[in-house]
Amino acid sequence: MSRSGGCQCGAVRFRLEGDLGRASICHCRMCQKAFGGFFGPYVSAKPEQVTWTRGAPAYFQSSNLVRRGFCSACGTQLTFEGTAPSAPWFDLAIGAFDDPTDIAPTVQLGVESKLPYVDHLAELGRRTLDEAAAGYYASVVSHQHPDHDT
Ligand SMILES: [Zn+2]
Ligand SMILES: [Zn+2]
Repeated sequence: MSRSGGCQCGAVRFRLEGDLGRASICHCRMCQKAFGGFFGPYVSAKPEQVTWTRGAPAYFQSSNLVRRGFCSACGTQLTFEGTAPSAPWFDLAIGAFDDPTDIAPTVQLGVESKLPYVDHLAELGRRTLDEAAAGYYASVVSHQHPDHDT
């Protein structure tokens, strides 16, 4: 099994060989901040499964135990990596995969920091992008890298 992925601008691309580990979402405040989102979506792997096929992540040492890999050109979060022997984590951001469809989270972490409205997201009203702004989305020309190697 081989999977590919990368950042939104395409400066950093990866290929992963073999099976993925546990997929999770982490509600901790550090993951919220790193993603600018409600939680961090991650799937674990082994570093030796990953080849950086274009560019390489930049890193921010977000704590004494963890560094976070990201694209220095566009800011996309890519990895969560333990840097201490006591915490040998290696996770990839689920949304960075070219096809994240089947990487379903199986556990929620850091629930003590979960934002109070997250449990109600599935109850929100639903609209397609065209329903939200008729014609607008059809006029969008994406500058993001496509969901495949180029
Ligand atoms: Zn990028
Ligand atoms: Zn977290």
